[in-house]
Amino acid sequence: MLNKPKETMKKLKCISCNKTLRRVTQDIRNQKESYKGNLICYMKKKIIVDGFSIPSLNIKQGDTIYSYRLWDGESYHYYLGKYRFCGVNCAAKYGIKQLNQRKL
Ligand SMILES: [Zn+2]
Repeated sequence: MLNKPKETMKKLKCISCNKTLRRVTQDIRNQKESYKGNLICYMKKKIIVDGFSIPSLNIKQGDTIYSYRLWDGESYHYYLGKYRFCGVNCAAKYGIKQLNQRKL
């Protein structure tokens, strides 16, 4: 089980507004078993199938199914894939600040 202390988990923050960047996560739905792997698992939901079925997944009335979100504990979304901004607004703000400092 992965249970890192908080201090060692690096949080990537936007270099403009200091908000933590969005995590790269994977949403898993309608599983017949709860998650047993090494990734960080949260937003867990356990549902008893009632009033519906999903024949393509062999899920039927009365089954217990699980949905959850997985995160590897270190992957965040970079702006344009490589910049530490939470989005275009912060990238622009940061750029303008740089320009002001250079008195252009
Ligand atoms: Zn930001």
